Amino acid sequence: MSHSGTLYVVATPIGNLRDITLRAVDVLQAVDIVAAEDTRHSAHLLTHLGIKAKLVALHEHNERRAGEKLIAELRAGKSVALVSDAGTPGISDPGAVFVQLAREAGIPVVPLPGACAAITALSAAGFDAPHFLFYGFLPASGAQRRKALEALRDQPAVLVFYEAPHRVAESVRDMAAALGENRVLLIARELTKTFETFYRCTLGEAEAWLLKDDHHQRGEFVLLVEGALAPEAAEVDENSARILTLLLSELPLKQAVKLAAEITGAKKNALYDLALELKSK
Ligand code: SAM
Repeated sequence: MSHSGTLYVVATPIGNLRDITLRAVDVLQAVDIVAAEDTRHSAHLLTHLGIKAKLVALHEHNERRAGEKLIAELRAGKSVALVSDAGTPGISDPGAVFVQLAREAGIPVVPLPGACAAITALSAAGFDAPHFLFYGFLPASGAQRRKALEALRDQPAVLVFYEAPHRVAESVRDMAAALGENRVLLIARELTKTFETFYRCTLGEAEAWLLKDDHHQRGEFVLLVEGALAPEAAEVDENSARILTLLLSELPLKQAVKLAAEITGAKKNALYDLALELKSK
């Protein structure tokens, strides 16, 4: 009886080449085949690590075909490591189709955890929220993007998006329109690289910051948006929230809430909840 090989799903760095685990190096060294999204890109990493490997292309356009060939190799006892260009395979990257083929064929699948841009951004975001929703890339077309964002409007979890540099400004503009201008946004750019930048602002302020300097729109982006406020707090309209924010910057909480209620006519309870939320940020 022949034993099948193992499929290793190996996370690789998202920028800094030293962000690779010792186990990933061991496995990349030991396997018979490395299946890579872009063989030239991965050859660069492997050379950097001093590893000579047989590279095979497996990307979104050939995943099923290349995956089936690799399943035959795995059945014959060969071991395969799957890598993508950056981060964790299968996360806004090819991999899921191949992994599913392997599972259907009864081939052992072993994940090697490591870098992932979404988790890296979240770890340094300081959003004190119990849940996040990983969305990945929004649709490229404006109309579809706005529809997708509308569907997320009441979602209380922190929203995690990937975005391309040439679309980031229009995406934050659509987010402000669909989700409200007052939500906090954290722009996490060029993570683990030389020009790593975190910029925290409201959705309403984001486009202006991106357009202010060409450098602000360059590189790779993760966008983290705070979730929808609790229904009580959401009863406060944008103008009342703005007035409350201004008053909070000058006055103690109770006084700011009292004055905001008098000025705007909004419910005191709702203003109080919102004030607590704003203070906790
Ligand atoms: N599989 C990868 C992961 O685990 O994060 C994601 C691959 S996806 C094709 C590429 C997108 O991830 C980029 O457009 C960007 O949104 C995000 N990304 C990847 N590397 C990044 C970095 N160093 N800084 C910020 N965002 C990054």
